[in-house]
Amino acid sequence: APPPADAPLRITVLGTGYLGATHAVAMAELGFDVTGVDTDQSKVDALAAGKVPFFEPGLDVLLEKNLATGRLRFTTDVASAVSQGDVHFVCVGTPQQRTSHAADLRFVEAATSAIARHLTKDAVIVGKSTVPVGTAARLRELVAREAPAGVEAELVWNPEFLREGKAVADTLHPDRIVLGGVSARAEATLRRVYAGPIGEGTPVVVCDLPTAELVKVSANAFLATKISFINAIAGVCEAAGADVTVLADALGHDVRIGRQFLDAGLGFGGGCLPKDIRALMHRANELGAYRASALLQQVDEINMGQRERVIDLALAACDGSVLNKRVGVLGAAFKPLTDDVRDSPALNVAAALHLRGAQVTVYDPEAGDTARRLFPTLSYATSAEEAVEGADVVLVLTEWDEFLQVDPAALAPLTASPRLIDARGKLAADAWRAAGWQFTGLGRVAA
Ligand code: NAD
Repeated sequence: APPPADAPLRITVLGTGYLGATHAVAMAELGFDVTGVDTDQSKVDALAAGKVPFFEPGLDVLLEKNLATGRLRFTTDVASAVSQGDVHFVCVGTPQQRTSHAADLRFVEAATSAIARHLTKDAVIVGKSTVPVGTAARLRELVAREAPAGVEAELVWNPEFLREGKAVADTLHPDRIVLGGVSARAEATLRRVYAGPIGEGTPVVVCDLPTAELVKVSANAFLATKISFINAIAGVCEAAGADVTVLADALGHDVRIGRQFLDAGLGFGGGCLPKDIRALMHRANELGAYRASALLQQVDEINMGQRERVIDLALAACDGSVLNKRVGVLGAAFKPLTDDVRDSPALNVAAALHLRGAQVTVYDPEAGDTARRLFPTLSYATSAEEAVEGADVVLVLTEWDEFLQVDPAALAPLTASPRLIDARGKLAADAWRAAGWQFTGLGRVAA
């Protein structure tokens, strides 16, 4: 039986990374009793001490506030956490396998199995991680095998659409809530969990398991396609002497198209879009849906080609070779408002130039530490000024506001040669040129 409507729901969240930590804090903020569980002791220790182990605007304040209420705690003890919970969210990672495009489902399987084995009462297990279509059905069988006799455990899928940098608002006020494979009982429980956002008018889509799994990866595939579309058009703009930034603004006025995700540039990266489209490619192939995988293959190739394009522009700015040249890199995170450098195009380009013999100095307002861990051989600066000091070429690779507001006239004299590559299409070319910079943008008319 579902817990009586007046009994407080006890929620566990397995995996306290970017998604799980945010979800746990948001659930506590909505008034529930929440235990966050992770296998990584250092993450649990940090969160329990009120420290978010990554940069996510607003999350630190909400974490401290909810820890103080006593409604929120973090542990590595999955057995005790699960035994007390009514609703268990699976928020662990699903990275790309090292040797193929497929998703690595070991963590999802381990977490689901741990939940099933430690259940002591009826519960709803809610998958939130992004998984290939068909995963949830297999996890259902796993739960049926491993849950103790007499306990009713229902596995459903409730994909997550939050954006890093806006994760708190996206969790508390999502665009939609997708509930896949829910019985009437599980649906009622999840409608209690999400009563806050539902009360604000958030639409709820109830569907079967495979549809729920596919909604998530299709959303990411669409966004990735939109970015690669404008990057392909940027190539046409360059060849034809047109300006893709003006073109994108004009396109964006069409409400059927919309202006978001139409910035030509270095392309997408991060812990989600690249691995999600590759996993979908792989899965679509397995299912014989070759058109989808062919489309996404192009999207991926266009995207990765943008990194090559920016490297080529840097080489061209240095007369064909960056050997022993100083390269100032502004931006390391895969996008602004995060310190996430997983599959970051910015760091890829920085590392590639380093490999070609350049002395690369990187500055990012938040991602310096995470970048240093991944690429310890690059140099890191603590300001834009320091990064461009003596530079033969400067690259803006992440569109942080700080870089959009920088005074080009103040920066120019610090460089050895004021040459700028705007790989995100967000800088005012005229202002930079007026300040003496040789300015190169993607898909824009050369000066
Ligand atoms: P992450 O790597 O930041 O976090 C995953 C966490 O799971 C880690 O802290 C890891 O230690 C923990 N973990 C692994 N195995 C575990 C286990 N058996 N029990 C408990 N904890 C375990 O990853 P993330 O970015 O938070 O992504 C998690 C999932 O959410 C992925 O499937 C991702 O595609 C999806 N997602 C992410 C975002 C995002 O913006 N980051 C948005 C929507 C969906």
